[in-house]
Order: sequence, then C-alpha cells, then structure tokens
Amino acid sequence: MRALLPVVLAALAASPCAHAAQTLQLQGTLSGKDHQRYLELPFTVPDGTARVDVTLRHDGAGERTVIDLGLLDTHGFRGWSGGSRRAVTVSRYDASGGYLPGALPAGQWKVLLGIPNIRAGARTPYTVGVTLWDEDEVQAGRDRAPQVLREGPAWYRGDLHMHSTHSDGSCSSQQGNKVPCPLFLSLQAAARQGLDFVAVTEHNTASHLEELARHQPWFDRLLLIPGMEVTTFQGHANVFGINGPLPFRLGDTLPDWNPLLRQVNDSGALLSINHPALASGEACMGCGWTPARPVDMDAVAAVEVVNASQADGPRAGVGFWEQQLQQGRRMTAIGGSDSHDPGAADGPSPIGRPATLVHAPALSRDAILAALRQGRVVVDVRNVAGSRLDLWLRDAGGQRTGMGQQLDLPAGQWATAHAELDYPRPLRIEFVIDGRRHPATVETGEDGSQRASLRWRSDGKRHWLRVDARDGDGSLLMLGNPVYVNWPR
Ligand SMILES: [Zn+2]
Ligand SMILES: [Zn+2]
Repeated sequence: MRALLPVVLAALAASPCAHAAQTLQLQGTLSGKDHQRYLELPFTVPDGTARVDVTLRHDGAGERTVIDLGLLDTHGFRGWSGGSRRAVTVSRYDASGGYLPGALPAGQWKVLLGIPNIRAGARTPYTVGVTLWDEDEVQAGRDRAPQVLREGPAWYRGDLHMHSTHSDGSCSSQQGNKVPCPLFLSLQAAARQGLDFVAVTEHNTASHLEELARHQPWFDRLLLIPGMEVTTFQGHANVFGINGPLPFRLGDTLPDWNPLLRQVNDSGALLSINHPALASGEACMGCGWTPARPVDMDAVAAVEVVNASQADGPRAGVGFWEQQLQQGRRMTAIGGSDSHDPGAADGPSPIGRPATLVHAPALSRDAILAALRQGRVVVDVRNVAGSRLDLWLRDAGGQRTGMGQQLDLPAGQWATAHAELDYPRPLRIEFVIDGRRHPATVETGEDGSQRASLRWRSDGKRHWLRVDARDGDGSLLMLGNPVYVNWPR
C-alpha cells in the first residue's frame, strides 16, 4: 500500500486523443534502489465510469530498465500484463489481454508497476496516463480510436450476419460432438472466403465485444464489426456498430421499436430488419417482421433482403423491401449468411454467402457503416470472387448519378441508366423501375464486363431505379440498390 517514490498527480488534463474525456498523469522517477520492487500509483475512479485506459511511457529501455504494468480496482486484482504492453484498457464489456472486463467500481484504484530490472546507477523517469470515460461516451463509441484497416475508396466485401458460441452457433468438436462454436472459427472462415469485413450479430448479447477487440489485431485484413441481432417476439433486426448490449424486451421493458431505433441512430450504429418475409411460428419463433405497434420506418437504415439461401421466392426479403421503397422510404438492401456453423461449408448458410459489397472510402467501421447508409451497395448471392455490379444514371447534361444517390429530373427529360457487371459467366441483366422488371440486352465491353443500358423519360414524379443480374434459369445472383429520382431531400 505504500508508494516507494514520490508520485506527481497532475491536475486533470486534456488527453492527446481528440475524443478523450479526461486524463490523469501519474509521474515519477525510478532509480537503482527500485530494482525488483513493486509500486502502487493510486487514482480515483468516479461513479459512472465505463472505461479506464492506462498508458505507460518511459525511455529507459536503452539502459535495460523494464517496467511491468498491472491494475488494481477497489476489490484488488484487475489485470497484469508484465512488460508486454504499454497501453491497456478495461471496460464493462471488454478488456486488454491479461485484464478482466466487468463493472468498474467507483473509488480508489491503483496502477501497479513492477520493476524486474533497473541498473544500479540508472534514473528512469516514467509517465502513466489514466483516461476515464463515462457511460455516455462509451455508448456513443467516443472511447474508440478510429481503426482503418485499408485506406482508399473501393468495393469491400463482407458478411453482415453470423452467430457463434456467444449465442446459438454450434459446430463439431474434436470428437465430432455438436458444441457451442468458438467465434475464432467463424472469423477464420470469413478470412478464407476472402471477405474484407464481418459483422458478428449474436442474439441479444454483447458478450462477444471482448473477443472481437482481442482478435482484431490478428485479423489485420478483416474488419470485425460488433453487432447484435435484436431478437424479439415481433421480428429480428441486426444492429451494426454496437458499443454494449441493447434493450430487446419488446412488449415488456421496451414499448415498441422506436426508442431502440432512436438509441441506435444516436450512437452512430444502424439497424437492419432481418429476414422480414420468414413466417413466425414454432419453427422460427418471432422471425417474421410483425411489430405490434407502428414503427418509424424512416429510422430503419437497411433491410436484409437475402438471408442465407433465401434470394428468390416468398421467403426472400426483396418484396418487403420494394414495398418500403414504393412508400417513399430509403432503405439499403443488404444480405447476410446467418451462419450458425462455420464448418458447414456445404450447408444452407456458409459464411460469406450471400456477401454484401459496399463501396466505401476506406475499410473502417465508420466508413463501412456510413457507406451502408449511403447505399452504393450490392448483394452477391453466391459470393463469387471478383464479381461486381454497378449502376448509374446519366442525364442529358452528362451528369452521372450512382446507386444510393439522388437525381432531380423534371418531367419530359430523358436519362440513360447504365449497368455494368463483372461475373465469370454471362448473366441476364434486368432493370427494376418502381418494382417493375425490364429485361435488357446485354453487351460485352472491351474490358470483358457485361453491360446494359435503358433510356428512360421522367414524368417529374418520385421514382427508384435499380438493377439485378440473374442466372440463365432466372435465379437471382446479384442485386443492386436504387438510384433515387425526384425524392425529397
Ligand atoms: Zn433472425
Ligand atoms: Zn441470425
């Protein structure tokens, strides 16, 4: 309980991180007499704290000074990382390796330093930074440093729906028994499928946040987006970009979907209605979209139009989504495998199938979520490597308007819709205007892409125009999102 060295407890100072709340600086200087001793540096955690970040800086490594790092909360041990980490974090939902997540009791905490080596004549000044975040900041994601896995605008390919041991995912154990399936296997399967991002969407829990945070450094080509499948008796909806658990007790503690939608949108996350056309019943409880009270559908950002293998027919979500578009609601169509077993490559919902292709300015959580909202998004039903579908309208003045964008086109004016498809074999291309299908003549471009166009005359009213690509037998393979014409801004 004693501090072996004078510790300077600086006044609350602005953190170097642009988002940060408040940072304490605990400073001191080690000398040879601290060799093989422990130091406790006390600090106060106020009520309502939801994350504690600790950093350690010193420049004694050149003369072989080693400082180990650990953390004590009001009850005692909270974590130890030895000399392996200079920055650690603990929160209610996640923690660095070696540290325990969970409630952060208010009171006196201590940073624990161990000094396994310092030379007899050495003097090593050190600075420990302690940053404290409150619950609102954590829920809004302000405690997260932006993490960009890849810079630059591109089509990024991902799977937005999967389950693991954190909810009802299962797979074969070493001896062939069906057991709760480790999340890592799902992430590895996604990486093998060549995906750029996944959203892990466990049913009504956030217990996977910690694993995702710990796995992300290893998956430095696969962006891990924490999600939750809000699973109610009146429908399922994926929320992408959660920072903690969300309420789900619809008809109990939650009167209807609207407070949840407000919470989601305020936090920068987005909500997608899942498999809306599935029937609710004993086979799939609460699976259909059957809200008991009116939902503010303008607050819904997306619809899962292809769940697992349901791309065509009455169980696909395309019809539900197009009805929403007809009612003037802009929602992005997406897909999700709903994988519950990463080992079942031949099953009905292997990871990555369908894939969702998102044109985003970078591969980061914020960029992918913003691009999903924006809507330059394509569902690739079979997850075919290298496949791509794009659509744009060109008006008489030459202006180009792409998927997710809006064009004002007065009555009587003409525009041309251009579709461009990359796929390993010829497909049928079909324009869809306000839900009506218009098969197109497909030509092959100089670069081998499949192209189609359609001249279209505006009547000055609101319309949406998109494109699909189908196999020779008519089955849907690629689904595009709309260009919006004459929509209120
Ligand atoms: Zn579901
Ligand atoms: Zn699911």
